[in-house]
Amino acid sequence: KDKISKPDISRAKSTELYNKAKTYFPGGVNSPVRAFKSVYGTPLFIKKGDGAYLWDADDNQFIDFCCSWGPLILGHNHPAIREKVIEVMQNGMSFGAPTALENELAELIISNNPFIEKIRFNSSGTEAVMSAIRLARGYTKRDKILKFEGCYHGHVDALLVKAGSGLVTFGETSSAGVPKAFADETIVVALNDKEALAKAFEDFKDQIAAVIMEPIPANNGLLLQHTEFLQYLREICTANGTLLIFDEVISGFRVGFAGAAGLYQIKPDIITYGKIIGGGLPVGAYGASAQIMSSVSPEGPVYQAGTLSGNPVAMAAGIAQLTELLKPGFYEDQNQRTKDFVNDIVEYASQRNYPLVISRVGSIFWLAFDTNAVIRKAEDIDPKSMDHFKKLHLELLNRGVYMGPSGYEVGFVSAAHTTAILDTAKQAIFESLDVVFS
Ligand code: PLP
Repeated sequence: KDKISKPDISRAKSTELYNKAKTYFPGGVNSPVRAFKSVYGTPLFIKKGDGAYLWDADDNQFIDFCCSWGPLILGHNHPAIREKVIEVMQNGMSFGAPTALENELAELIISNNPFIEKIRFNSSGTEAVMSAIRLARGYTKRDKILKFEGCYHGHVDALLVKAGSGLVTFGETSSAGVPKAFADETIVVALNDKEALAKAFEDFKDQIAAVIMEPIPANNGLLLQHTEFLQYLREICTANGTLLIFDEVISGFRVGFAGAAGLYQIKPDIITYGKIIGGGLPVGAYGASAQIMSSVSPEGPVYQAGTLSGNPVAMAAGIAQLTELLKPGFYEDQNQRTKDFVNDIVEYASQRNYPLVISRVGSIFWLAFDTNAVIRKAEDIDPKSMDHFKKLHLELLNRGVYMGPSGYEVGFVSAAHTTAILDTAKQAIFESLDVVFS
């Protein structure tokens, strides 16, 4: 490393905790990408988060752009969420019976989102997607699902096919343990490719229950799609009696309160939510028209349930977070800060001819070490470019900036990332880029 490379941060306590964790958990973690397999060093064990900052077990402080992989749009430990959660917890933590809090969160969402009329809460994005797929199959009485290469929809059996960061990072296209018969019901098509999509609809005429898509694919880099492609997708689904599911687990409440559906003004048939909707606690949800949702049990024949679904503490966190998002100017401010931040980095890199492009939408950004202007398909990402990310990741940690530990992951800017904090992060990014490309 050259002269402006900083000494590595101490990871003594994290390493000790990781060694212990490896005796308890496969790979020492409870979710694979956390294991730092595609970046340098042992994973950092986090002990505290506040605003835009994280502290690890060794007391290193970081400006955090992972934000718990997306849920923390207000930053860590936001007082409005914390206070609401504490207030609700005074009355108990779970009843397995309806509460007014579920109505309150549903009302907040439905009255500010023209794309869904009814919603069902559960406890994760994976559950939301799994339930939405079952609903689409039950509603259409068809079996096949079409997904796009590089889109991740949680660890749902039939969707763990060519599914983004977690799998790409470990060099697998699909998971072991998924019966071939399940994967056979899944058709995989490249993103942003009208012809491939049309051919799939021809090949599997009247068999496709649903197309599921991240309208803003953000799990295998940030593969921004042409709006015309999304419109075409809407049309071809309608023409074939296929339901369109927008998986908005990342984009929902992130690129605007009504998510990508609102941004592109395209009405999907079913929307799935996770992450932001729970304010940092485990909440997932799926919503659709009243008519489609009437197929869900106990109103209809599609069974779906959950012991902790609509958990009052999780609902409280969601209510507090979404209430903040509805304040005037919230998204404009956040998006502008992110835009300025990204533009400055792009300018710095381009003046020095560093091979870096940044995709951005709203407060989501992705650093791609490439010279192509925009990458829209998983297959267009050069795996070798990940070496640059690996080096950058270490240099950034040494300068107090925490990014998700995989070059296929996106970064998130929160409301707590003030312009001053972003300026500090930018300086660290400039220095780190200089080291990577020197
Ligand atoms: N769908 C998308 C688009 C996601 O990004 C994720 C998680 O990253 C999921 C579904 C699964 O959500 P969860 O991890 O809450 O199960």
